[in-house]
Amino acid sequence: MTPEEIERFEKGMKNRPHVVILGAGASVAAIPNGDKNGKKISVMNDFFQKTNTEYLLEGINLKTKSKNLEDIYSEIYERPELKDVCIKLEKAIYDYFSDLQIPDEPTIYDYLLLSLRSKDLIATFNWDPLLLQAYQRVAKITKDLPDLSFLHGNVLVGICEKHKMGGYIHNQCILKKSTLVQSENTLNF
Ligand SMILES: [Zn+2]
Repeated sequence: MTPEEIERFEKGMKNRPHVVILGAGASVAAIPNGDKNGKKISVMNDFFQKTNTEYLLEGINLKTKSKNLEDIYSEIYERPELKDVCIKLEKAIYDYFSDLQIPDEPTIYDYLLLSLRSKDLIATFNWDPLLLQAYQRVAKITKDLPDLSFLHGNVLVGICEKHKMGGYIHNQCILKKSTLVQSENTLNF
C-alpha cells in the first residue's frame, strides 16, 4: 500500500462505529478497590457468598449445583412454590446494586466513555449503576458520547409505562411529566 492508501485506510477504520460489550468483569475492573464507600462488587459466580446474602437461600433445596447468580435465580424464578423467595431475592439483588457509588477518581468506565464518540455503542449486561454514574459526570465535559444499551436492564434505568420511554430512574418523562419508574423488567435475564 502507498502511504496515501495507508492513511485513507486508517482514517476509515477510525471513523467506523465501535461497539463495546461489557460483562460483570468490567465493573469489577472499574472499582478494583471497591466503590466510593469501599463496597466491593461481585461477579455472577459466588454472588451470594461474596455479598453475604446466602441466608436468602437457607432451607431451599436447589436442583442446580451452580454457584452462579443467574443459574440460581433462573431456577427459583421457574419454581412457582418459591415465588416469595424470588421476590425477596430480586429486592436483595436490586438493593445491593443500587447502593454502589462510583469513586471520585476516574475509573476505566470514564476513560472508555471519553474514548468513544456518538457514533459508537456500549452494550452492557450489568445491573450496577457504575457506567451510568460515569456517564453522568463525563457528560459535563462532552456531549460526544456513545449510546448505551442495557441488555439485562439496570438499577438506574427507569421507564415511563405510558410512553414506553427510558431514562434515569426517578427523572420526569419528557412527554407528560410522569416519573420514570422501575419496570417489572428493569432487571431481567
Ligand atoms: Zn411518559
